Amino acid sequence: MLVETLIQNTLEMQGFRVAEVTFVNGSLEAELVPDRRCAPCCGVCGQRAAYRDTRPVRRFRHVPLWGIAVYLLCAPRRVNCKHCGGIHVEALPWSTGKQRFTEALMVTLATWARVLTWQQVAALFHCAWSTVATAVDEAVKYGLVNRDLSGITLIGVDEISRKRGHVYVTNVYDLDSRRLLWSGEGRGQKTLKAFFEAFGPEQTAKLAGICCDMWQPYVDVIKDKAPQALLVFDKFHIVRHLTKAVDQVRRDEIRDKGKAHKALMAKTRYIWLKNPWNLTESQKIRLSELEQLNLKINRAYLLKETFRRFWDYSNPVWAKDYLDKWFWWATHSRLEPMRDFAWMLRRREDDLLNYFDAPIDNGIVEGLNNKAKVIIHKAYGFKTATNYIRNLYHCMADLPLPKTMHTFA
Ligand SMILES: [Zn+2]
Repeated sequence: MLVETLIQNTLEMQGFRVAEVTFVNGSLEAELVPDRRCAPCCGVCGQRAAYRDTRPVRRFRHVPLWGIAVYLLCAPRRVNCKHCGGIHVEALPWSTGKQRFTEALMVTLATWARVLTWQQVAALFHCAWSTVATAVDEAVKYGLVNRDLSGITLIGVDEISRKRGHVYVTNVYDLDSRRLLWSGEGRGQKTLKAFFEAFGPEQTAKLAGICCDMWQPYVDVIKDKAPQALLVFDKFHIVRHLTKAVDQVRRDEIRDKGKAHKALMAKTRYIWLKNPWNLTESQKIRLSELEQLNLKINRAYLLKETFRRFWDYSNPVWAKDYLDKWFWWATHSRLEPMRDFAWMLRRREDDLLNYFDAPIDNGIVEGLNNKAKVIIHKAYGFKTATNYIRNLYHCMADLPLPKTMHTFA
């Protein structure tokens, strides 16, 4: 098979044909010329339009062949378009507007950028890092326009820290299809309002449940923008608050009792914080020894462990009954961090009990975050929020890619 035929059969090039392929300085250069039987199409509106003149030759990078760089060379025509008015460069079927690479290369780079870092993709395809960044940008733009947002009823709102020093990004997830819906800088009211604006009032009205942390700016915006939706506090966040309280009790006790106690508590932090079934055999033995001593941390530990049962209720009335008992115990425990935690729940009790009407949580978030983190942690260049968010969409939003004539990856 000739290289001409190979290119012709793998490339979207309706209205053009390969005139010649030459091997120049280690690269393949394919010259594309218009098929004289077809009138050019306007690059703005896509309609057939009258020929005006021809512009200088442009080079488009294509998917490499046997590791050899492939370029398409074409002198685009300009048209006098009477549909949209004005003089425009014609549409070229293999390219996506202004980019100097083919759509096929864009899809190929973007596909690899879902599993490798952008540096690795650039090295694999012998192209610049910025080319990969542009390819991902194009892919995300296409995906956001062409994705299906119908039928979304349950969403989760979560923040992730972009880098050390409390730089946050707010993410909104579709809990049913387990994908990222929206991502924006910050974690204030303004950020979440921007989501609802982008999502639109019609879609928002269809939301039945929204899961988030007990974070006041989120709560305020949700109650304002989607009052019909059940607000559910994410149980993983609540457990994190509880674990933090237990750890605070441990620290306070060490501080109060001094050196001897500090020695006794050495290497026990995770024994108190971990789920009991995740403890090693030696940790289990250590725990049962420590339980013999009348320690504050042990009382906090018991409170933490008994709180687990709260989530098991299926009826909000019984759940409330259990919570009342637990609240009494926690507030009479003489453990300040546990008392603070109990009061935090009591103040939000009405919303907290919504969980039993819509038992949703943001459990999917961790898995998705890990997927994106694999790529983020290994890569440089995510210093800007724009690239960081672009990558989140690319790895977590399950966006469709344009269909190409041939699958290269
Ligand atoms: Zn036009």
